[in-house]
Amino acid sequence: MRKTEMEQIHVTLPDGSVKEYPKGTTPVEIAKSISPRLADAALVAKVRATNGNSPQEKTGIFSNSVDPAEDGSLLYDLRRPLEQDVQLQILTEKDADALYVFRHSAAHLMAAAVMELYPNVKLGIGPPVENGFFYEFLRDQPFTPEDLEKIEKKMHELANQDLQNERKLLPKAEALKLYQDTKQLFKCELIEEKADEPMVSFYTTGKFIDFCRGPHIPSTKRIQAFKLMNAAGAYWKGQEGNPQLQRIYAIAFFSQKELDEYLHRLEEAKRRDHRRLGTELDLFSVQEEAGPGLIFWHPKGGLIRTIIEDWLREELVKRGYDLVFTPHIMRFDLWKTSGHANFYKENMFGVVEVEKADYQLKPMNCPGHILIYKSKLRSYRDLPVRLAELGTVYRYERSGVLHGLMRVRGFTQDDAHIFCMPEQIEAEVEACVDFAYAVMKNFGFDKFEIELSDWDPKHPENYPGKAEDWQQASSSLASVMERMKIPYKRMVGEGAFYGPKIDVKLIDAIGRPWQLTTVQFDFNLPARFGLEYVGEDGARHQPLMVHRALLGSVERFFGILIEHYAGAFPLWLAPTQVEVCPVSEKVMDYAKHVRETLKNHDIRVHLDDRNEKLPAKIRDAQLQKIPYMLVVGPKEAEAGTVSVRHRSKGDLGPRPLADLVTALNEEISTRTIQ
Ligand SMILES: [Zn+2]
Ligand SMILES: [Zn+2]
Repeated sequence: MRKTEMEQIHVTLPDGSVKEYPKGTTPVEIAKSISPRLADAALVAKVRATNGNSPQEKTGIFSNSVDPAEDGSLLYDLRRPLEQDVQLQILTEKDADALYVFRHSAAHLMAAAVMELYPNVKLGIGPPVENGFFYEFLRDQPFTPEDLEKIEKKMHELANQDLQNERKLLPKAEALKLYQDTKQLFKCELIEEKADEPMVSFYTTGKFIDFCRGPHIPSTKRIQAFKLMNAAGAYWKGQEGNPQLQRIYAIAFFSQKELDEYLHRLEEAKRRDHRRLGTELDLFSVQEEAGPGLIFWHPKGGLIRTIIEDWLREELVKRGYDLVFTPHIMRFDLWKTSGHANFYKENMFGVVEVEKADYQLKPMNCPGHILIYKSKLRSYRDLPVRLAELGTVYRYERSGVLHGLMRVRGFTQDDAHIFCMPEQIEAEVEACVDFAYAVMKNFGFDKFEIELSDWDPKHPENYPGKAEDWQQASSSLASVMERMKIPYKRMVGEGAFYGPKIDVKLIDAIGRPWQLTTVQFDFNLPARFGLEYVGEDGARHQPLMVHRALLGSVERFFGILIEHYAGAFPLWLAPTQVEVCPVSEKVMDYAKHVRETLKNHDIRVHLDDRNEKLPAKIRDAQLQKIPYMLVVGPKEAEAGTVSVRHRSKGDLGPRPLADLVTALNEEISTRTIQ
């Protein structure tokens, strides 16, 4: 044997064991040598050169391919020979990276199907995206829903042929010629731009060939759970003026079950859309006449907001906050002192001139609270000072990104600033997190995700504060989370430049995360404003400052609530709690008596006195998602009862009026969630 044929490579497996294989062995062969089951489940491999160098050849670069990970590891086709010592991991459906590769292969499958059905289309790019993939095509006619159906069918047909995804290398000139001959000019353009090596990599799937860096799953047979969603116009490379292609978007999952669940979530999200429900339930509006991103709270929405805010204010006072109010417009110079005029300028409304002085509509409440703190000399005995405000702020957002209540130009933060001494900080942070939990539980959320965003200690130059401040703040945040036994994710380098923070995301009824609470340290503003307190030693010290908002924005929180409950608010939040539905004119007097009785017990009640049949009254009350409907007829009038119907539990039967009042008051006062 010649020496090269005997050459061995060392492969380190995830369990740390090192095995020897002949050079050129493929990951799938190694998987087979470990277990046939693993080889069966294998989709792609993750390799990392043991010597630390990336094994990536620069051959054939695909603009949307998986980039090497931070640790230098790369995803590899299962049948691609290994040429050097590597760490190797075989990825299966359990690995997120494999899903990404799977979706990329599904994009190729779609392009293969499109090329069979419409051989004259020109190909753009086809990357995996969140939940699926797209591929873009140049075609004179738009793709119709019927076209998409045909393509989907063809994809299934090709998938079932178990076509192999093969990697090939071509010299660049040959690659260009291949695409010039077939007039695939976008591909020529990509090769000219991206291929900076003499050899260019391609993938074939049956007759289909694509310039691509890969990697791909071995064959098409696993691609079964997908659905083409829509086609939408997109400029080539996203640049206006370039030819317009059609992007066909699709979703894809490993299993039909996951696909069905995703489609169900999409349906649910549509059903729960707060913009539609906001109109249907007459909660709020955005008025073109007044301007985009500015919210009008209608009586019913306004009522819910009042309940939310009243609860919050009461809780703030109980928890030792002082309620303050600050002006909506303040001198522009104040924002120079705070630094916002500089680093926050593009998010601020323009300056307003009054008596030759510049004024600024506030984008933040912090400077206002700082001025209150500074209004007198504070002693260590006064600390912590906790100033809270339901403060309305205005921020400039491009009209393109505005979205119902979620992204707006004017909103009210449940904002607070805590000024304290270093030794008080842990207790304060703990109290903030505890408060945040209380808020979420109160409004019916019981699932959360928590992130601790920290500085990057390897790059202290990016953070103007003192290193010891950062270290102390980070470690106190972490120790609070550990003491409270709260699992959290640490995000290194994700902290604001002025301090570390804790973010709480709640998970709503259909599993979507929403960023809500933030508790943020600030080493910057106390210094900029020269904040002080007189310490026990009689000397002046700089207090620590924490910004914190629990709901975040009242508008956005309301949007989340609407979607979480799909408009069917718990009784204590429902704008109309009870609808009285008389069966005829004859019992109107008794119906009015029922209404007055409930009203006298602080229950929000409405009497449907229209000349409509009972089923119509019930249907309308259901559509308005009113929790309880009370049907009253001659029998009820005589017995002093009401027939109770609940919007989701249905008919609950007759009940003495006095009994019902007690039960409703109990449900309201305990703020029962459904
Ligand atoms: Zn590709
Ligand atoms: Zn603030």
